[in-house]
Amino acid sequence: MEPASAAPGAGRAAGVPLRTAIFGAFVALAVVLPQLPVPDFWITQANYIGLYALVAMGLVLLTGVAGLTSFGQAAFVGIGSYATAYLSTSLGLSPWLNLFVGLALTCLSALVLGWITLRMSGHYLPLATIAWCLALNYTMANMEWLGKFDGILGVPPITLGALDFTEGRNIFYLIWGAALAAAVALVNLLDSRAGRAIRALNGGVVMAEAMGVSTFRYKVQVFVIAALLAAVSGWLFAHFQRTVNPSPYGIKWGIEYLIMAVIGGVGSVWGAFAGAAVVKLIEDQLQVLLPSLIGTAGNFEIVVFGIALVLVLKYAPQGLWPYVSGWVPAPRRARDWAEAPLLAERARPAPGEALLEVDMVRKQFGGLVAVNDVSFAIRAGEICGLIGPNGAGKSTTFNLVTGVLAKSGGTVRFRGEDITALRSREIARRGLSRTFQHVRMMPGMTVLENVALGGHQRGRSGAIRAMLRLDRAEERRLFREAERQLARIGMAGQVHELAGNLALGRQRLMEIARALCTDPVLLLLDEPAAGLRHLEKQALADVLRQLKAEGVSLLLVEHDMDFVMNLTDRIVVMEFGTKLMEGTPVEVQASPAVRAAYLGTEH
Ligand code: ADP
Ligand code: MG
Repeated sequence: MEPASAAPGAGRAAGVPLRTAIFGAFVALAVVLPQLPVPDFWITQANYIGLYALVAMGLVLLTGVAGLTSFGQAAFVGIGSYATAYLSTSLGLSPWLNLFVGLALTCLSALVLGWITLRMSGHYLPLATIAWCLALNYTMANMEWLGKFDGILGVPPITLGALDFTEGRNIFYLIWGAALAAAVALVNLLDSRAGRAIRALNGGVVMAEAMGVSTFRYKVQVFVIAALLAAVSGWLFAHFQRTVNPSPYGIKWGIEYLIMAVIGGVGSVWGAFAGAAVVKLIEDQLQVLLPSLIGTAGNFEIVVFGIALVLVLKYAPQGLWPYVSGWVPAPRRARDWAEAPLLAERARPAPGEALLEVDMVRKQFGGLVAVNDVSFAIRAGEICGLIGPNGAGKSTTFNLVTGVLAKSGGTVRFRGEDITALRSREIARRGLSRTFQHVRMMPGMTVLENVALGGHQRGRSGAIRAMLRLDRAEERRLFREAERQLARIGMAGQVHELAGNLALGRQRLMEIARALCTDPVLLLLDEPAAGLRHLEKQALADVLRQLKAEGVSLLLVEHDMDFVMNLTDRIVVMEFGTKLMEGTPVEVQASPAVRAAYLGTEH
């Protein structure tokens, strides 16, 4: 359950007190469980579930939310375990110190692994994590000083003052305290500026980058966070078991952690607990059941889990969490941002200042010249149209100007600066924003969150501040800005809806609000009026005129000729990748060449 994605509804509000009570009772049970006269076996089971959940929730973030798959989490668990086992037995260091050493080692290896693989396309990370897990496990099993296959025995307990965490059921509190704290931190993270950027990774990097998000940076961050959670689990595991050996850190466990995350529900932090519990309990049963059914010759659990994984992915791709989530209160964000101070805006250029200079820009896709040495310029305070038949190269021109596609030739200057070689997020930072012809958004996020993503570069708070909830003041400012832009575009009534539930025309408007949230001085709109009804188009035209009055310049691609002719100051016409002509709406309408272009291809 993503925290802020729950749209408040009347039916939901009525159920919250009951759910809160049930959830509270669940937490209370977890607190008193060790005090109750339950068999030790149960407590041990609960400890394992907590340990597994720590790893699985890291995978929820990495795989479920960010869309990056790792089979190698068991290796990070191993680093946490072996670091503390070795240091506390061989050097007699305190487990608490060892925790930090383990986390540092984990952070370092995750950074190196992430740095190498996360720039590359999708499959390198899973493959690299498999290789990493195998290699590390091999190392553990073959190093004399790590005890080879026997591992390290006699790991001391964790103590804190007079408190001994292996005494009685104390370690239960340590494990579950860590697991619950981590879950709360992750829920907080997902409901933040950094969290929106992380959630946007799954929607492909193009949109996120165009909104100013450094996708690589956030990929590395989630990879490191997931690895650190695994290392904490490993640290606890070593002191819980009082011994380490290579087997729990092999690739089999790497896969099993992934299964937990998937079964629990890859998009939900709390689902990690459900997944960990289900896998642990089923595995115990299988260990008894399978040998009696098919003998002890092989390791059949993994086969059963593999089949279970396929079935879950096919029949319950959201995992178990949606079935459980009804019992947990959905966090609702109170509208607390109405009074937040407005974000600073960048200085607007003086009217008439040269804003965008596109010079001989070219794009070839193999043999096809999609944009053929096109030049045009936009001055501050203008609304400029870009028209032409389908396939003329308009969207490609947008992509070249905004850095979404690499140019085959030509230069682009923005406010006097050469931006030809800049990445799209660097161009966005300079005040050039855009919408996409094919809407790019996060359907599972609310309209407000989608738009707030546009404000990414106007905030600063990172993951740690978000986890600790220190980012609320800035969040309120971002949300106020997002709501303001939505109100301006006529969507004030839909801020809490899920973006995926909007009609297509509304999604386009939402993209305009998102682009406005970046505080642009030049806005490129690719077919903004497509899918809108007549009155909505008129309202949109009014908004665009108002933007112009406020000093925002516009370049828009649009097929509705009435819309374009009534709104624009100047029009560039393209055909087959080349610029056919440029002029005022009256000149363009009178041009025989333009008529021929449209008549020849469209009618
Ligand atoms: P418009 O927006 O004017 O309708 P586009 O810019 O989308 O046109 O496309 C221009 C031409 O480039 C079309 O022939 C299209 O098929 C081609 N094209 C666009 N993107 C790609 C791509 N990624 N790979 C290959 N060809 C492309
Ligand atoms: Mg297009």
